[in-house]
Amino acid sequence: MKAITVEPKKPGTAMYEDFPEPDVHEGSVLVEAVAVGVCGTDVEIVEGKYGWPPPGKTRLVLGHESLGRVIDPGTNSSLKNGDLVVGIVRRPDPVPCSNCAVGEWDMCRNGQYTERGIKEIHGFMSERWRIEPEYAIKVDPSLGILGVLLEPTTVVTKAWAHVISVGVRTFWEPRTVLVTGAGPIGLLAALIGKQRGLDVHVLDRNTTGPKPEIVRALGATYHSCTVSALGFEPDVIIECTGVGSVISESIQCVSSGGIVCLTGVGHGGVTNKAAVADVAASAVLKNIVVLGTVNANKRHWYRAGEILARADRKWLSRLITRIEKPDNFKQAMERKPDDIKVVIQFSEI
Ligand SMILES: [Zn+2]
Repeated sequence: MKAITVEPKKPGTAMYEDFPEPDVHEGSVLVEAVAVGVCGTDVEIVEGKYGWPPPGKTRLVLGHESLGRVIDPGTNSSLKNGDLVVGIVRRPDPVPCSNCAVGEWDMCRNGQYTERGIKEIHGFMSERWRIEPEYAIKVDPSLGILGVLLEPTTVVTKAWAHVISVGVRTFWEPRTVLVTGAGPIGLLAALIGKQRGLDVHVLDRNTTGPKPEIVRALGATYHSCTVSALGFEPDVIIECTGVGSVISESIQCVSSGGIVCLTGVGHGGVTNKAAVADVAASAVLKNIVVLGTVNANKRHWYRAGEILARADRKWLSRLITRIEKPDNFKQAMERKPDDIKVVIQFSEI
């Protein structure tokens, strides 16, 4: 079969090449790849900045936003041939830490977890892949190729779950949510906000391209100003940019008792000790909670499937702005101005 592989930490080594069939030790369920989403992590791995091959190997099969069709369910599985499935990305660490021991691998405490297509386990950008039945999530067949949005949806499903568990620490009636960043994660966070009946606002620096219209089509309000210029104090802010100035403004502008949920991973920017104290002071005086969240565990994968199944298919399809063939994976990794989610399609749905 063929697979998109890379020698991690070595730029320029990615290729679509002949590769051995998936090893039976990778799982009893055999899956034909339908599509794999591309995200910033894949780009970083291709650029040689990130990633680890499986132990004893030099190359890693890329891809963690999967969608496939079961072609052999194996034994010990309730799956059937033809079922559409998505593979859970993270596996618990082998120690295991207390969180991994109870199935909360997204909260792993020792960092020794592994991740398909990222850290020590082959990913899903191959014509066929294998998976353990307990790590295969069945998706609503009516979603079709939109099932490839499941993995990014799990990230914001967990983010919302944690926001809610923080919110109920006190009397809590949230009405408004601000999502910063209108990429795939931000737009899916906005979708969940709408499904929860909230007044949803999305802020992004883009003033043109598809994002403003996609936000309006969701019934949400699009802003391209700064957080402090919004003119209201959101009850919840889901921060998806990782940009320092957006984060500090979010903490200063969220409502009293508000929650700022950080999902974006950025770096650098201006540091200023006095400003940090000012930001902290507003957090103290307004009873604000700032929380960070990454990855997701099985309950979030299950819930994310329900969220996508409930969503308007036409709206979801607007998030996939480009579909490339595996031969063109290099173009798929290039970021173009109007891209939201780029998908590599391996087989017809
Ligand atoms: Zn762990």
